[in-house]
Amino acid sequence: AKAEGKGLARRFDPAQFAAAESRRREEADLRRALDAGEFEVHYQPIVDLEGEHTVGVEALVRWNHPERGMIPPIAFLDMAESLGLLPRLGGWVLEEACRQAAAWQEQNPGFELNVNLSASQLGNPDLVEEVRGVLDRTGLPPSLLVLELTESVALVDLVESARVLGALKTLGVRIALDDFGTGFSSLSHLGALPVDVVKIDKSFVQAMQEGSGASVAEAVLQIARTFKLAPVAEGVEDATQASRLRELECAQAQGYHFARPMPAGDLTDLLARQAAL
Ligand code: C2E
Ligand code: CA
Ligand code: CA
Ligand code: CA
Repeated sequence: AKAEGKGLARRFDPAQFAAAESRRREEADLRRALDAGEFEVHYQPIVDLEGEHTVGVEALVRWNHPERGMIPPIAFLDMAESLGLLPRLGGWVLEEACRQAAAWQEQNPGFELNVNLSASQLGNPDLVEEVRGVLDRTGLPPSLLVLELTESVALVDLVESARVLGALKTLGVRIALDDFGTGFSSLSHLGALPVDVVKIDKSFVQAMQEGSGASVAEAVLQIARTFKLAPVAEGVEDATQASRLRELECAQAQGYHFARPMPAGDLTDLLARQAAL
């Protein structure tokens, strides 16, 4: 009996049990939240660097938890992906954001919407039909939708990604490569993927002030130009960065210097103020 007890003690680790228990509760909470409609889409302006007016937005998901408050995507997206919830959550974000962007068209024709795609969404064989359905239901012109994916998402299966992105493009939507420049093999894949826009990662923008940093940002912009891709600089936090990017002829940018991500209502107000200028 003594030996048996020892064996049990070795197998049963209270700390590990508590961790597994807490994870199980969080997973259940996440599933519950999806049914309860606790997710929100916030929108961060993308500005034209010349006039600094808002030409579009990036949709960014948040979890508005009844007890824990507003939870950023970094705190739940990996778990949602591993639980297989991202196709559903991502599909909801896409439809919600397209419906909102279609409403913004009335006062702001041509206003663009960027939406992030996860690995599981890209791997979903129904993705193209799903996007087509959302465009039909919401009435958003396909040319105003930009689907963003990171290189790591695209590289899960490069050949298959190229095929799916090509099929998406036949709908009339555009494709952006997110966090551009942070992957190890950006250059070798640029030719293989039908990409229209590159989002220059904030690490390059923020390194511009430091010595060689400016030439790195310049080189990344030069690559975009060579491949005829429209660059959007991310993470612009001050006026110096904005003016350096202007000098480097980067047309569009996004970052706290211009505006933080905000609820749809605040973006509607921002557009109204902009129209009144
Ligand atoms: P991302 O796609 O690179 O989005 C940009 C992130 O940078 C956002 O963080 C945004 O709030 C933040 N940001 C914007 N301007 C600045 C700035 O000037 N400085 C700094 N330091 N950060 C800035 P957020 O909203 O927390 O999203 C984090 C990531 O979560 C996103 O990175 C994206 O990869 C993912 N994500 C967000 N929403 C979705 C979604 O609906 N679907 C998927 N698949 N991923 C999403
Ligand atoms: Ca993005
Ligand atoms: Ca990014
Ligand atoms: Ca990122």
